[in-house]
Amino acid sequence: MKRIVLTGFRGTGKTEIGKILSSRLNVPFIDTDDLVETKTGRSIPDIFHYDGEERFRSIERDVVASLPLADVIVGTGGGVVTDPENMEHLRRDSTLVLLFADLDTIEKRLLQKPRPPLTGLPLHEEIAAMMDRRRQNYYASADFCLDTSETSPALAGERILALLKTGVPLEEQRKTAWAFFKTGRIPPIPLKKLEDILVGTAHNPMTRIMGVAGYPCAHSLSPKLFNALIDRYHLDYHYTWFEDPELDEIMDVARAIDAKGLSVTIPFKKDVIEYIDEIDEHAAQQIGAVNTVVFSCGTAIGYNTDWLGVRKPLVSMKGAKAVLLGAGGVAAGAAYALIDLAMDVTILNRTPKNAQILAERFGCRWGNWEDFDRIRPDLVVNATPLGMQPDTRSPLREDQLQKSMTVFDLVYTPPVTPLIEAARAKGCNTITGSDMFIEQAREQFYLYFGIDVPVENMRELIL
Ligand code: NAP
Repeated sequence: MKRIVLTGFRGTGKTEIGKILSSRLNVPFIDTDDLVETKTGRSIPDIFHYDGEERFRSIERDVVASLPLADVIVGTGGGVVTDPENMEHLRRDSTLVLLFADLDTIEKRLLQKPRPPLTGLPLHEEIAAMMDRRRQNYYASADFCLDTSETSPALAGERILALLKTGVPLEEQRKTAWAFFKTGRIPPIPLKKLEDILVGTAHNPMTRIMGVAGYPCAHSLSPKLFNALIDRYHLDYHYTWFEDPELDEIMDVARAIDAKGLSVTIPFKKDVIEYIDEIDEHAAQQIGAVNTVVFSCGTAIGYNTDWLGVRKPLVSMKGAKAVLLGAGGVAAGAAYALIDLAMDVTILNRTPKNAQILAERFGCRWGNWEDFDRIRPDLVVNATPLGMQPDTRSPLREDQLQKSMTVFDLVYTPPVTPLIEAARAKGCNTITGSDMFIEQAREQFYLYFGIDVPVENMRELIL
């Protein structure tokens, strides 16, 4: 039997439900908090009080790494999910069920079994603050979710057992989804695999679908990368292409098959906002575009990881003088990243009005393409499609490049664009679109699964 791991905040019923599952499935129940206490011979409040939370987390990490991999039910401490190393161990060959409950219910349950506070706040506020802080981690820890607010532990146990037998999408929903996917442009081998998973003999109720949503998106590298990561970390997921001109259709199918998440690409990054329930602060308030949707516990949450993909390779260039070429969707994320790094930014665009609109949003300069030569920037970021296959043009002439410049081309097909080639010939420092792609995909994987993939591993898988 695959290991079943219960995650969730204190008071959501992990221990009681875990014990019920253990007796129904006739396998042991292990509680990570109990293991910490056994291993140290001390109580958790005592470890927190005398050694601090960091020490507790370190012991907990060792405990999680030593858990058996099969035939066991694991109940986890409420904060276990915040550590990517724990998530890597807990997710391996396991089914994770996130238990959740409303605030009042959790408060009522915690009042019955008092525990030392984790913050100096009154209990209700402490629960709200901690749940809010950890919410993204909890969602990333969920293969399946169960609301235990109005459910007895016995009934919750029955529901989990039923879930393990049938999964979430009904046969009818899987058939409808299959009709959608087979009209797309998924290559024959992955299409056959998807058919087997959805409606064929290889159907496993625990396998969940996710993918890239766009039109067109058949060229996307995401399925290759994410499926390799899914294999590497032993996850029961399959990543595919949700390619359709109608976002409505894509979102209907994603919800019908209980998709884990979507990586959203052209042309839906703005439109998808109206289909989701919540949106993170960077994506919504500033960038106005979502490239990642995580579905969990009946909620769809939108994030933007593009800006992090631009920001990460540039952290050593804080305060630089930068020119951003282009004023479209990706340029908005790039502008946000450059401003976040306190750069002096000028946006240049084919249609200057669009540069002006974007610049006014971020409080930076803007201008015409011709203004490039007088600016003499330290950094140039290309956020136009110029140079993207089959286009062989470069947004800048060779004589406009200086050896002292860093040139970052966000275009990643081909891996070495005409702009990057010219910049390398000039002796410039260069950053490629693949660097951005890798960083933004790393962030996406973390949002989906709570696992931090080393950059080198991402690079190996994609190049
Ligand atoms: P978009 O919203 O369509 O914006 C395109 C921008 O480029 C606009 O400002 C447009 O100017 C300008 N532009 C288009 N054609 C041009 C031309 N022939 N000459 C000069 N300027 C031109 O596209 P996007 O979503 O921002 O994507 C831009 C590029 O980013 C894509 O082609 C893709 O290669 C790259 N990208 C990379 C990653 C990654 O992970 N590395 C992720 C996403 C996208 P106007 O305002 O005048 O129309």
